[in-house]
Formats: sequence, C-alpha cells, structure tokens
Amino acid sequence: MTRFVDVHNMVRWVARTGTQTIISEMMDYLEDDFRRWESFDKTPRVASHTPFGVIELMPTSDHETYGFKYVNGHPSNPARGFQTVTAFGVLADVHNGYPTFLTEMTLLTALRTAATSGMVGRRLARPDSSVMAMIGTGSQSEFQALAFKAALGITTLRVWDTDQAAMAKLLRNAAPLGFDVHIASSAADAVQGADVITTCTADKANATVLSADMICPGVHINAIGGDCPGKTELDAAILELGEVFVEYTPQTRIEGEIQQMPADFAVTEFCQVLAGGAAGRSTPEQVTIFDSVGFAIEDFSALRYVRDAVQGSDFFEEIDLVANPEDPKDLFGLVGALSPVG
Ligand code: NAD
Repeated sequence: MTRFVDVHNMVRWVARTGTQTIISEMMDYLEDDFRRWESFDKTPRVASHTPFGVIELMPTSDHETYGFKYVNGHPSNPARGFQTVTAFGVLADVHNGYPTFLTEMTLLTALRTAATSGMVGRRLARPDSSVMAMIGTGSQSEFQALAFKAALGITTLRVWDTDQAAMAKLLRNAAPLGFDVHIASSAADAVQGADVITTCTADKANATVLSADMICPGVHINAIGGDCPGKTELDAAILELGEVFVEYTPQTRIEGEIQQMPADFAVTEFCQVLAGGAAGRSTPEQVTIFDSVGFAIEDFSALRYVRDAVQGSDFFEEIDLVANPEDPKDLFGLVGALSPVG
C-alpha cells in the first residue's frame, strides 16, 4: 500500500502543526540534503512549454529513495479562476521501485519554496535585517514572509503588486501573523529601506520588476518568480551588482535570471556555501542575489519531511496504488476470471 496525503489532510496537518513551525523544520531537512548534494542524481527538470504555461517533471534520487514532482506554471491562470502553480509528488523505494508516498504538493511547494528562501536567506542576508520588500503578493507571498520571519526575525513588510486586491489579501492574511505591512505605491517605493527584497511575480515575459537603480548596498535579493525560459523579473544589470547564488547551475542557466547573461557568467551553487567551499556574504555592503528556480532536491526534502512528520498520525491514508498479484508473474490473474470470454 502507498501512503497518501490529500489536500484535506495536508490542510489539517498544517493547521495542527503551524505554518511557521513547518517552514522552520523543513529548512533543517533542506540543509541536510543540500549538505549531501553530491549523493543525489541531478538533472534539469523536464519541461513541456505551451503558450498557456509550462508543465514540468522534477526527478531526483539518493539511491535509497526516488522522488519526483509534477508541477505546472500558468501565469494567466488566476484571471481564469485557476491557480498559477499546482503540484503533486511521489517518493518510491529504490530497491523494488514501488511508490511508498504520494502527496498533494500545491501547498507543499509554497512551503518548500519558502523554506528554501529562508534557508538561503539566513546564510546570505545581513543578520541585522529587519525589513523585507515583497514585489508580488500572490499565492507564494505569505509563505515567503513567514520564512523570513523564521530565518531572520523579519516582521516589517513593504509590499507592491500591480493588483490592488492581491495586496489587500496579503494585508488581511499577514497582519494577524504579527507582520507590520506597508502597502507601497510602486516597486521603487516598496524597496525603500528594505534589507531583503523578495520578487515573486508571475508573468510569462522578460519583465523588469526591479531595476539596478533601486538596489542599495547590503541588500539580499530573493528572486523566486523568474523560473522559465523567457520569464525573468530582474534588470540584467542587477546581476552584476553582487554575487549570484543558484541551486543547480545547469537548470538555472536555462530558467533563472541568469538566462539573460553569457553562458560563462560566474555563479555560486548554494550547496558550496553550506559545504564551506564558497563564502556566503563577505561584507555588510555586499549585494547577494538568490536566483531561485526551484530544484528537485528541494521537493525531495519536502516530501521526506512530510512523510516523516505524518508517521503514526491520522494525516494520511493507505491507498491501493500498485496492482500487486500474489504471483508476481500472474498479473492477468487479477482480471482474467472477471473478463468476458471471446
Ligand atoms: P500568483 O499568480 O499567485 O501571484 C503572482 C503575483 O504577481 C500576482 O498577484 C500578480 O498580480 C503579480 N504581478 C505580476 N506582474 C507584476 C509586476 N510587474 N509587478 C508587481 N506585481 C506583479 O503566483 P505565485 O504562485 O505566487 O507564484 C509567483 C511566482 O513564483 C510565479 O512566477 C511562479 O512560477 C514562481 N514560483 C517559483 C518557485 C521557485 O522555486 N523559485 C516556486 C513556486 C513558484
């Protein structure tokens, strides 16, 4: 049997455990997996692009457990009543190939993306950071805010979105979580005095939600919205203002902000910072840029964390996902007696 966490149970588990607690605990799972980066199979995700958006498969394995996520990205979806990003994911036992764990990952992707941003932010942002600007206040935004609260203690948000209703929603959701929210009049206004800038907009275009003249020394930029060929958020000049950190370079060169740069543009893989092979932030004045696209190992960590966390609870059910005849060579025996003759 395969353990299955559906949306109902995911929501119950998050409500019982607490979103910020989950993000904090997931950061530790992520760090464990980023520290053993070399032990994973790694490949850029497999993407199917259409004019509507993209559907992607994101596989990895540590040779004990295999995992993959199915995820879509459709920036025009909210205008049609659908979400931009939805997902589900699987873990399987490498020894026999059987799937052991299946879960919804729409919520879980928001949690893991936030936890990844937090894990990176706590190493790269100035430790005295207290104000975060957030450009884009859609589905990911509250999760991102909670990650930076967990990672750096940030409780002041300066937010900008082209959609007033999305900013009102952020204010409604974030104020009860203890955030002091300032609704800005533009992206340039939002970044005034910010120590951290998160960009999480969705537009299937080479957009410029931040330009180089808006960036002050010492800021950490957490750029999560540019994650597809032809879909970027930052003025390319920003990438030359500081050091760019990435998850998995071959995938980020295709999908990240650095797709705007020459193929040999220098970047640092974040796993190197954890391993001690690369410096993180070197001075308080340095600009650090996390060019996040989302990598399969992050989903693997999130899946592993939820699988462990729901163990022994009633937040999952067992489902009959794999046809499993008593005689492994007699698959037909499951249906033969039931099939009409002829
Ligand atoms: P969403 O559609 O719910 O929210 C995006 C928001 O951006 C909307 O409110 C929209 O009005 C706003 N926006 C669009 N263009 C803007 C602009 N020029 N200036 C200001 N606001 C603008 O999407 P979401 O689920 O919150 O995802 C946000 C982005 O993050 C998407 O592009 C998604 O693909 C990406 N994402 C990345 C990762 C990762 O791991 N890096 C993970 C999940 C999602």
